[in-house]
Amino acid sequence: MTPHHNLIDGQWTPGLSYAPNTNPSDLSDVIGEYAQGGASDVNTAVAAAAAAFPAWSTSGIQARSDALDKIGTEILARKADLGELLAREEGKTLPEAIGEVGRAGQIFKFFAGECLRLSGETVPSVRPGIGVEITREPIGVVGLITPWNFPIAIPAWKIAPALAFGNCVVLKPADLVPGSAWALADIIHRSGIPAGVFNLVMGPGRVIGEALVNHPDVAAISFTGSVGVGRGIAEACVKHGKKVQLEMGGKNPQIVLDDADLNQAVELSAQSGFYSTGQRCTASSRLIVTDQIYPAFIEALQARMACIKVGDARAAGTDMGPVVSQAQLEQDLSYVEIAKAEGAVLAAGGARVACHTGSGKDGYYLAPTLFVDTEAGMRINREEVFGPVVSVIRVKNYEQALAVSNDTPFGLSAGIATTSLKYATHFKRHSQAGMVMVNLPTAGVDYHVPFGGRKGSSYGPREQGRYAQEFYTTVKTAYTLA
Ligand code: NDP
Repeated sequence: MTPHHNLIDGQWTPGLSYAPNTNPSDLSDVIGEYAQGGASDVNTAVAAAAAAFPAWSTSGIQARSDALDKIGTEILARKADLGELLAREEGKTLPEAIGEVGRAGQIFKFFAGECLRLSGETVPSVRPGIGVEITREPIGVVGLITPWNFPIAIPAWKIAPALAFGNCVVLKPADLVPGSAWALADIIHRSGIPAGVFNLVMGPGRVIGEALVNHPDVAAISFTGSVGVGRGIAEACVKHGKKVQLEMGGKNPQIVLDDADLNQAVELSAQSGFYSTGQRCTASSRLIVTDQIYPAFIEALQARMACIKVGDARAAGTDMGPVVSQAQLEQDLSYVEIAKAEGAVLAAGGARVACHTGSGKDGYYLAPTLFVDTEAGMRINREEVFGPVVSVIRVKNYEQALAVSNDTPFGLSAGIATTSLKYATHFKRHSQAGMVMVNLPTAGVDYHVPFGGRKGSSYGPREQGRYAQEFYTTVKTAYTLA
């Protein structure tokens, strides 16, 4: 099996060792061997990025736009094979994986245009005879640390704006799914951008991630992952005076009101609760349902869940792939036990299942799981499970639904299913989430608008869309005596 090396200073550089990348749909299938770097690789990569920065940051917007456009073009042209790799290593279904790759390509195209639109301001001074210019400049070497659940889209939505605005990058992808990030690095490498502008260092978070966060020449860290790791990174960044951006977990509420279109409410709840195996930070894991529609909603959702085919991520007909890893499966099952012990009623799933489509090989398959009659204060409603495990809370009316939806330490995405303009409008204004959906799943967002949350879900400026420049640039105010 050909080993996949790290990309440092434009060279494929051997790791200290290599780790297998295993297919969660078929545990006998090893996709490849991927480098495990060390702190010394981070030092070399950061030095290369710092050396490349003066030329790249002044290379001009046309050169940067052309490079990003070329990268986007290849990603889009290779949606099928990159999607296949992504589904094989992460376990989301092939259509979902191809969709994610398409999104990554579109993001590079978007930022190819966005770097041409960077603008500043010229304003009068309060002192006569002086001119004031406000401009944005790149920040330097940025460290990007990404999770396993969107192995190409999340690296893309950090790398593309970082490069567009003239920064140099060291990417540390999730150790569990290095294949898509390596393929993306290969595309970036072959795009012709100068050596050192983009570097990939694979390996464990505790080694590579910590070395990046603590490196004095890294000016900023953009992190997506769990709350626990994110908070530690924020503390270290503050200590070192680095700029930091965190996107973390969610416990996203989906309200269903009595006046909702029942079929629509069931479909969007099933989509955002169980698709991508519930492993999306924007997945709905709390369904908050008002009294009158509650019995019909539960019955219809159970019927819809019974149609979800769990199986090999790449097999035709699979609706839901496996859980990503043994550790994640154990976490999901432990929350099933916690919920039962708290008195939640298991209405569907709750256990490992056999593969229903494709090869029928052994994988981390979990049945879509539903708990009903749960209380808002239960751990199953307060802590992120990050699997296909959804709980339902029964409430009296909209006011109680809104209060329960906001009663969470998280604030990423929140949805409401209703035919009432009054409640939809009120919810958009009063939900304490960064993203609000009306009659749409809580998961599923556009690539050209800001993405992010509030409270424990996010920290720092928003990602994506034109708002991304806030993090990836720094503002300069220049005064000139006329
Ligand atoms: P983790 O926090 O475990 O890991 C995220 C990244 O941080 C990985 O690359 C990991 O490396 C690295 N890391 C781990 N420990 C350290 C450390 N001490 N210092 C620096 N880096 C470290 O998250 P998961 O990969 O398990 O991803 C799931 C989480 O991501 C969920 O909580 C989910 O909600 C969140 N998420 C949030 C999104 C958002 O936009 N809000 C989007 C997608 C996911 P390694 O892989 O080697 O452990």
